[in-house]
Amino acid sequence: MSSEPLTHEPVVEIRQVQELGRDLVVIPNRGVELVPNIGVIGGNHSVLVVETGMGPRNAEKVLAFASEYAKGRKLYLTTTHFHPEHAFGAQVFAGEATYLVNGAQAADLAGKGPGYLEMFRGLGTPVARQLEGVELATPDAVYDDTYELDLGGRVVRMRATGRAHSKGDQVVTVPDAGVLFTGDLVEAGQFSIFPWFPPYDVDVSGLRWIEVMRRLIATDPRVVVPGHGDISGPQVLVDVRDYLELLRDETWVRRDSAMSTETIVAEVEALMIRRHPEWAGQGWIEKGVGCFCAEHA
Ligand SMILES: [Zn+2]
Repeated sequence: MSSEPLTHEPVVEIRQVQELGRDLVVIPNRGVELVPNIGVIGGNHSVLVVETGMGPRNAEKVLAFASEYAKGRKLYLTTTHFHPEHAFGAQVFAGEATYLVNGAQAADLAGKGPGYLEMFRGLGTPVARQLEGVELATPDAVYDDTYELDLGGRVVRMRATGRAHSKGDQVVTVPDAGVLFTGDLVEAGQFSIFPWFPPYDVDVSGLRWIEVMRRLIATDPRVVVPGHGDISGPQVLVDVRDYLELLRDETWVRRDSAMSTETIVAEVEALMIRRHPEWAGQGWIEKGVGCFCAEHA
């Protein structure tokens, strides 16, 4: 979501597929807004797809790629959180793959999915076009906190992080390859996405997000696949934590001196853009400031 209407097509292209390890590839988002990085992870008897792309036409491409990749192996699908470009293509996988997510994400999808469908349709014709025909899917299986999915000779770990970017975030780890899929808890080359839309959606928590980043840093992955942006090393986790902490501190110090929200936003935005002039998504700084203002003790 950005504040300006999107003018490009948020389309998944099966191009420049990157191999991150044995039987583990990512369909990269190539820097295209509202296209996620999509993972395909294989084992001896099963293959897990991480993220669907936005809407049934994108998801059909992903499913076709995954089916060819699987060569008859059983398919599983998971999504890192319920946001449209990550999960609103799951209907296409029905009957083809077992859709498995954490309980908090399933609740997000059921409770907030319809509202997000409407909100995203308002982001411009290209987005509305990709959302045509979306029917929100119901996961086939739901877990509470952690789940170990055996793909045959390879176990993939799925873990609900607790509320941060959304209520139902989960991360997916491939321990034998040192690969971590973070969803939108991490974006590379971009300011963190704060879906802070009071009064409609105030689930994002900057404070809890910082705690989640600290825990992810401690797991010391070799490769980090962010929700959007380039596949990275572990430093990207530190960069996101540092950004979130700085955003909190700079917001709170101004809040303490009773500045108006308008002034806080203007000053903190200018500061953050000076700090990260090359990062995209500057519109998300204001949302982050709003979130931290609300979390100010
Ligand atoms: Zn998201």
